Amino acid sequence: MHVLKPKKSHNIEVLHPLLNRKAIRLFIKREDMLHPHISGNKYRKLFYNLLEAKRLGHNKILTFGGVFSNHIAATAAAGSEFGFETIGVIRGDEWKGRLDELGKENPTIRFARAQGMKLYFIDRKTYREEKDKPAFIARLQQKFGEFYLVPQGGTNELAVKGTEKILSEEDVNFDYVTCAVGTGGTIAGIINSSFSHQEILGFPALKENFLHDEINHYAHKNNWTLIRDYHMGGFAKINPELIRFINDFYHRTGIPLDAVYTGKMLFGLFDMIKKGYFPKGTQILAIHTGGLQGNDGINIRLKKKGEDMLEIPSFYSSGIVPG
Ligand SMILES: *Cc1c(COP(=O)(O)O)cnc(C)c1O
Repeated sequence: MHVLKPKKSHNIEVLHPLLNRKAIRLFIKREDMLHPHISGNKYRKLFYNLLEAKRLGHNKILTFGGVFSNHIAATAAAGSEFGFETIGVIRGDEWKGRLDELGKENPTIRFARAQGMKLYFIDRKTYREEKDKPAFIARLQQKFGEFYLVPQGGTNELAVKGTEKILSEEDVNFDYVTCAVGTGGTIAGIINSSFSHQEILGFPALKENFLHDEINHYAHKNNWTLIRDYHMGGFAKINPELIRFINDFYHRTGIPLDAVYTGKMLFGLFDMIKKGYFPKGTQILAIHTGGLQGNDGINIRLKKKGEDMLEIPSFYSSGIVPG
């Protein structure tokens, strides 16, 4: 078993003709490289939660997510690495009782199981309406015994304490910090540790509009803006233009992006740069929150449809990660 250690990732500069033309400097903080399979912000969000679970004497973590969820994959990996049993309560019961079949076509699920995660499927309505209610949690406790609960997407106070570690003193010279937004826990931590002269731009990966309250709940400053124009139709929706952008970005820079979060964020950022949103001389730090495991599932979808695929090395068959 390994010990949870605080970590720091490095910034690398992106070289691109558009940035030259607009006299803008863009750096990427490679949080995707924090850990080989507990990706980026999920490592940050789990960090203090796992310490707290240990402190409280728990040996079991229960959490929620969809069948391709980065958070499910990360929790499963963190459990096996740091010595917890894990239970994933999964949205959608169409795969109930057909786990082997699902594993054949879904690398996230295959990985979670290989890490020892126990999977429990619930229908979408229960997932949406019940999963945060005490009565439902009590039923889960009867079924699985005592556990430490991590909410869907991993966001709570301790998660935000973790994401506050993404920025450091060395990032003081940036004018803008950008990140992808799901539940808002990551951007909240970034806002809290940002400098007051910095503007934080969040790019929601979802169409839904509940984010302002959630971010305000955890964030102590208001130097932030949500850019809502680049979710591309909703969560995990993709299109050929996005796939082309991610492939082009990878071939130019060597930096792999995921198609659900970081790809849309950088697509949006480049579009804003093109349209002159930022003055000459602006220095931008984009946070690479990870999520690369999701690309394998995206490529399976694209292949089935006969569309152009992501030209990024497979996460799960790279040999680093057991499938
Ligand atoms: C989960 C995730 C996010 C969203 O983080 P929130 O804290 O839920 O806003 C962003 N990027 C990646 C790669 C993720 O996996």
